[in-house]
Amino acid sequence: SKPSFKWRRVLLKVSGEALAGDHSQNIDPKITMAIAREVAAVTRLGIEVALVVGGGNIFRGSSWAGSSGLDRSSADYIGMLATVMNAIFLQATMESIGIPTRVQTAFRMSEVAEPYIRRRAVRHLEKGRVVIFAAGTGNPFFTTDTAAALRCAEINAEVVLKATNVDGVFDEDPKRNPQARLHETLTYQEVTSKDLSVMDMTAITLCQENNIPVIVFNLNKPGNIEKAIKGERVGTLIGA
Ligand code: UDP
Repeated sequence: SKPSFKWRRVLLKVSGEALAGDHSQNIDPKITMAIAREVAAVTRLGIEVALVVGGGNIFRGSSWAGSSGLDRSSADYIGMLATVMNAIFLQATMESIGIPTRVQTAFRMSEVAEPYIRRRAVRHLEKGRVVIFAAGTGNPFFTTDTAAALRCAEINAEVVLKATNVDGVFDEDPKRNPQARLHETLTYQEVTSKDLSVMDMTAITLCQENNIPVIVFNLNKPGNIEKAIKGERVGTLIGA
């Protein structure tokens, strides 16, 4: 029988910014390899892992909209395409160390990746494959955090693990105030009412409505991804 861990199926959200690290290019291969290694370790334990990857390291729709007549929807489509680049990079890295991985895109790019098909995604997970969801929700005006919440609910994953460049959610900006205190737990209510910049409102509300806990943690500390996936204490836990 499989060892029992806190989570059986998780949704790991990796932002584009986290993938960039301090590399001068958009992607730091040390980071993608670290993610691949830690994900490999937990899939071997039988925990099912799906990923949603961001694209902010390459293109963020909201910061380009308006420039040179670029409308928001067009800018957001470019942003969604950026997430596909990250997804393919991550897939190649995972497969280079022997983890079978499928990329599913929210809009069709059938020569490059599978289209998103919920049942097929679940089947991949059951077979021990990692599934990377790319192109966000497929809709402009949304974010990949919302895609993470949505896919998590759709595939019945138990938790959104949000990998970032900070240790969790602080009461103040830790970059400005070194005395800032890390919240170990927060309620959805606290996140929305205090306007803590954890996730956008659409994403956090979707988690709340579906009782999906969110764990915000630092991906740059070695072992943290593995810990988070195994359900060990790390970062900030947001729940009811
Ligand atoms: N995006 C979108 N719809 C989605 C998800 C993403 O239009 O459902 C676009 C949007 O322009 C966003 C970009 O893709 O700025 C990259 O995603 P995001 O900013 O969420 O990436 P992250 O902050 O995680 O790197």
